[in-house]
Amino acid sequence: AAKVTGGRHVRYTPELDARSSEQASLGAALRCALDEGQFFLVYQPIVALPSTRVAGVEALVRWRHPVHGLVSPADFVPVAEHNGLIVELGAWILREACTRMESWRRADDASAPAKMSVNVSARQLSEPDFAQVVATVLRETGLPASYLALEVTETAVFDSTVALDTLRAVKALGVRIALDDFGTGHSSLGLLRTAPVDILKVDKSFIDDLAVPGAQAAIVTALIDVSNHLGLTAIAEGVETPEQAERLVAMGYRFAQGYLFGRPTPDPDFAAPLALATAE
Ligand code: C2E
Ligand code: CA
Ligand code: CA
Ligand code: CA
Repeated sequence: AAKVTGGRHVRYTPELDARSSEQASLGAALRCALDEGQFFLVYQPIVALPSTRVAGVEALVRWRHPVHGLVSPADFVPVAEHNGLIVELGAWILREACTRMESWRRADDASAPAKMSVNVSARQLSEPDFAQVVATVLRETGLPASYLALEVTETAVFDSTVALDTLRAVKALGVRIALDDFGTGHSSLGLLRTAPVDILKVDKSFIDDLAVPGAQAAIVTALIDVSNHLGLTAIAEGVETPEQAERLVAMGYRFAQGYLFGRPTPDPDFAAPLALATAE
């Protein structure tokens, strides 16, 4: 029922996803995976442009299934969201990422990242005590709030009536808020004014065709202008080629993330910046 894609991840087929009994058994397997310690985090650099020095990292969850091997979060996060396990898994992810960030901070390595970004699902945002969970994790791990950013999607913010209040409470702790996959959800520039947002992550789909002049490039340019005007930090996601990076630098982007700069790994190497043609 599952097939291997790219030799690295197991992808559950859509037919399988559609069958609720299979969903239920995947849900049960996730519960067991959390109890058995089968989840781990990988970290992908977010770099400053044009230097490409590591400014931050994004934590991404992985599941090592004892039989199926590595399962993609695109396949299991929606199931965990559906059965509610994401609340407990998400709290584990947050604690793990903050513990790791605090150990980097204490190592006092000049090339270490200054910020840890953690993804937060819609379901977590709709929990009334979410800000309390964040406060507790920060206190118990010792990580100062200014080192943490939480990534939420536009859809998650729109979906729940308590999400905005939750975000304000989190922000009051001193944690940054990033709008993830910007431009793919119910995009509304109005949200940038009403939601307590600090960072705008421009979705990979806009970066893909950047080298070709046209609508995508126009949107990417417009988004850096809007960000600058509103005092937001823009991060370009999914940068894979030097040409894309150079276009972004020319447009005024100061932060980017993508395979060009580094893939997500359990033990990222922060030491080696990349030479862009446009870098001084
Ligand atoms: P996302 O938050 O938009 O994360 C970025 C995804 O793009 C990651 O996939 C990352 O590996 C991939 N990526 C980064 N740079 C490139 C690139 O240059 N090219 C390409 N093709 N891909 C790139 P990943 O790790 O498979 O995660 C997929 C999605 O699963 C995430 O999208 C996020 O929505 C969700 N997810 C992952 N980890 C977590 C987590 O800890 N909590 C929650 N709630 N969701 C998570
Ligand atoms: Ca993200
Ligand atoms: Ca994203
Ligand atoms: Ca995404």
